[in-house]
Amino acid sequence: MAKVLRCRDVGMDCDFEARAETEEEILKKAAEHAGAAHDMKEIPEEVLAKVRAAIRDE
Ligand SMILES: [Zn+2]
Repeated sequence: MAKVLRCRDVGMDCDFEARAETEEEILKKAAEHAGAAHDMKEIPEEVLAKVRAAIRDE
């Protein structure tokens, strides 16, 4: 089963979705996306907590 993270679920006005088999892979994609689209070079701890909470099974 794939996991999915929607950027919107983290509170961003953004249609990005990251899909992967593992939470680790999603977090990697999310970090790349956050850097490229939201100018976040590092994801703050409180945002990371939101991201983890927003990951859903698909
Ligand atoms: Zn986004």
